[in-house]
Amino acid sequence: MPSVYIKTYGCQMNERDSEAVAAQLVARGYALAASEHLADVVLINTCSVRDLAEQKALRKMSAVIGQGRKERPDQIYGFMGCMAQSRGQSLLDQMPDVDLVLGTQKFHRAADHIEDIRAGRRRSIVDVAEEEDSEARIREHILPGNGEKAVTAFVSIMQGCNQHCTFCIVPFTRGAERSRTIPDIVAECRELSARGVKEITLLGQIVTSYGKREVPVRDGKSAFVQLVEAVHEVEGLERIRFTSPHPKGYGDDLVEAYQRLPKLVESAHLPVQSGSDRILKAMHRGYTRERFVELVGKLRAANSGMGVSTDLIVGFPGETEDDFEQTLSLSREVEFDLAFVFKYSPRKDTPAAGYPDAVPETVIEERHQRLLGLINEIAAGKYQRHVGRTVEILVEGVSRKNPARYEGRTRCNKIVVFPGSERHRGQLLDVRIERIGTFTLYGDPAIVE
Ligand code: SF4
Repeated sequence: MPSVYIKTYGCQMNERDSEAVAAQLVARGYALAASEHLADVVLINTCSVRDLAEQKALRKMSAVIGQGRKERPDQIYGFMGCMAQSRGQSLLDQMPDVDLVLGTQKFHRAADHIEDIRAGRRRSIVDVAEEEDSEARIREHILPGNGEKAVTAFVSIMQGCNQHCTFCIVPFTRGAERSRTIPDIVAECRELSARGVKEITLLGQIVTSYGKREVPVRDGKSAFVQLVEAVHEVEGLERIRFTSPHPKGYGDDLVEAYQRLPKLVESAHLPVQSGSDRILKAMHRGYTRERFVELVGKLRAANSGMGVSTDLIVGFPGETEDDFEQTLSLSREVEFDLAFVFKYSPRKDTPAAGYPDAVPETVIEERHQRLLGLINEIAAGKYQRHVGRTVEILVEGVSRKNPARYEGRTRCNKIVVFPGSERHRGQLLDVRIERIGTFTLYGDPAIVE
């Protein structure tokens, strides 16, 4: 039986794409290898959002090939995803040992191409062309085997993005927005529920733009809210999440859905990127700080337990100390439960890469540290407020931090570690919070039963 190892960099979309490729290969008789040393085929699913991620993937492939050529001369190597899309043939020119370069609209072709290469029908393949209906091809799942219950799953609802934020390479690597149909997505959710999945995360680069061109607004409800309502009807599902929405697409119909749809958990990932209106405008984000704060207020009014997380960029070209101070003050004002803080990285073909007034690396580093410190301080305070409370968690399985424990997530998306057992997997449990760790809550064993 041939085997495949897939290394994934980047976002949840990439994780989902890798899962679909793995499922496709398993259906063709491949085993999933535990490491690149044991695999006949090594695929690296790449991310282009920051230069660092691209360099990591290139270094990883060099190391894999260097070792693999000694240990397994017939090993096959492939790049997939965003960097494969943006660099195409040049990856083969740079690394002639690579056999396959597979773009973001071609994941469903992975097994065919690998078979052609293994059978010697083609020496190497670069496939980065656009493909109609590619958004509907990320469908297959790898759910746990060995009698383990599946609990959560990601469902890709769309591909691409039309927003063209000036720092972002995604519209170039993933193309324009294309949405799957509601019945197709619901059918996938039903299949997952029948296999035991309790929580679905609807996934897209900009889910609030879902179906904008294809599905008309009905009774004041956007296409995305209509989709959430349809998924809410799926029997057996307990929870629905989604990521990532865009603050400007977050209408009142979506805010109101949190009050109406009990399976839609009170958690919102709202990428704000900056607290300065001047920088938001230069980023082409399409909202102001005031509008963002107002949105968070509406969400917390809809549900006071709403967990709010965000993405922030420091060092965007032209960011002054005053702009940065506004990001700090926004973070204090909103009190994010969690924030992913990124250093600005210029990307090829994006408008911001040509903007003047680049912020020096040392300043970016210093702002990054300052903002991280503040985010951690705020989050610790918010986590601390859970101590002594009883929260509902969905038990996902063995804890990633401590294999002797189990873990689940609160509705507001906080990880809770507790001394559970296998029979708790997939259950909704009330757990009393005893103490906190870094972005983790710890539950009391006495209350678990
Ligand atoms: S909304 Fe902006 S940051 Fe998000 S994927 Fe689209 S272009 Fe990139």
